[in-house]
Parts: sequence; structure tokens; C-alpha cells
Amino acid sequence: VTRYENVVKSYGALTVVKGLNLEVRRGEFLSLLGPSGSGKTTTLMMLAGLETPTSGRILLDGVSIEGIPPHRRNIGVVFQNYALFPHMTVAENLAYPLKARRMARPEIGSRVQRALEIVKLESLAERRPAQLSGGQQQRVALARALVFEPSVVLLDEPLGALDRQLRETMQLELKQLHSETSVTMIYVTHDQGEAMTMSDRVAVFHDGNLLQCAPPKQLYDEPESAFVAEFVGENN
Ligand code: ATP
Repeated sequence: VTRYENVVKSYGALTVVKGLNLEVRRGEFLSLLGPSGSGKTTTLMMLAGLETPTSGRILLDGVSIEGIPPHRRNIGVVFQNYALFPHMTVAENLAYPLKARRMARPEIGSRVQRALEIVKLESLAERRPAQLSGGQQQRVALARALVFEPSVVLLDEPLGALDRQLRETMQLELKQLHSETSVTMIYVTHDQGEAMTMSDRVAVFHDGNLLQCAPPKQLYDEPESAFVAEFVGENN
């Protein structure tokens, strides 16, 4: 269980997360949905350890993560601009972060193999990123987050760079992956359709505030504000 308690994040005079209280359940697929600039990415960054809350705290299984460096948090991260190393093969791209942590070679080998199996890329392990399609590259980025065998995977608009058809395919694959691994996934998107079809629960953000966090159907049926009703209903 991941819990945000009264988390505030300010950049100088600008407060971008305004007292967030949110509990993410183990194994759930939670989307953070909201317009650009509403604080979604900042919310993920603080959990990943790439930003520090101005006040409040974040607990992982009851323990404050303050002071725990990013690589010890057991969290995998996938961003839209998933930079793969172009000169390395797929397998090397996955092994690299484990080598950097001085993991033993046989353990690296088996983790890379497992991650490739999960994203169904075993047959492409020796290719370089330039020899892969956009969707395959995205799967490598996902596998690179999974090699750490994290308890939580953070995904920030991971399908944003893909065309619509591939996006839909990847949505299904991601959902499948979630149900097979039962890893907790926190997924940032500004696409309401995507959030509503993929998630166990959706947290709707507006201007640094979490307006409502509920299962998709409940957001449709019982929106607690005009903004939620409008944002969730859009294009549907
Ligand atoms: P998007 O979908 O565009 O990524 P978002 O909901 O993820 O939006 P954030 O990226 O969390 O929003 O940004 C929230 C606000 O914080 C924005 O107004 C942004 O300009 C501001 N912000 C983010 N990082 C910094 C920073 N390092 N310094 C100053 N302001 C920042």
C-alpha cells in the first residue's frame, strides 16, 4: 500500500500539488487523470524519489520513504520518452541498470529473461532499438522497469508517442500484463477514455487538487463535481 498524506509540492510561489491524500492499494491499476499542468507527473515524481515533497509525507507499506534513495524504493518507472541506449541490444538495455547495481551475473541473466518473456520480446533480445517498431520499443521500456521486479510501476503517458491503433493494442497488453503480474500500477494520462477503460480506480486531478478517486463507473454515475462530470464524460 502506498499512501500520500497531506502532500504539498511548491516550486517557489507556485504550488502544484495542494495537500494530496491518496491511498494506492496493492495490486491495483490506478490512473491519475487530469489536464496538462494539474500535478499528475509531480505526484509520480515524488513517489519515484525524483522530487521531494515540500510538506506532508509518502508511506510505502507504512514506512515513510523520505530519505530512501530512488533506486532503493523498489519502484519501476516508464516515461513517454523512454530513452533506450541506441548502441546496446535489447538484452543489454535491460541488463545495464542491474549491472550498475552490481547484481550477480546469473541473477541478471534470469531477470532479463523473465522480463523479456513478460513483454513477449524473447525473440528480439539481440536487436538494437533502431531495429524495433515503436510498440516494441515501448515494450522494452516496460521490461526495463520490470527487471527490478518492483512492487509498484509508475507509467507517465507511456503510450503518448504511439499512433492510435498501436496505442489501443498496447493498452490491452498493458492490462493483460497487469492481471498476470498483479504488480501495482500507477498510470498518468490526460486521456479520459484510456483511464476509464484500463483502471480499477481513477484519480481525477485539477489544478493541483485531487477532486475524486473512484472506480470508472462510479465517476460516471456519481461525479462529485461539475469538473469531474465534464472531464470524465468528454468524448464519451
Ligand atoms: P502534463 O500532463 O502536462 O505532464 P501534469 O498534470 O503532469 O501535466 P505536472 O507536470 O505535475 O503536471 O506539472 C504541474 C505544474 O508544475 C505545471 O504548471 C508545471 O509547469 C509546474 N512544474 C513542474 N515541474 C516544475 C519545476 N521543476 N519547476 C517549476 N515548475 C514546475
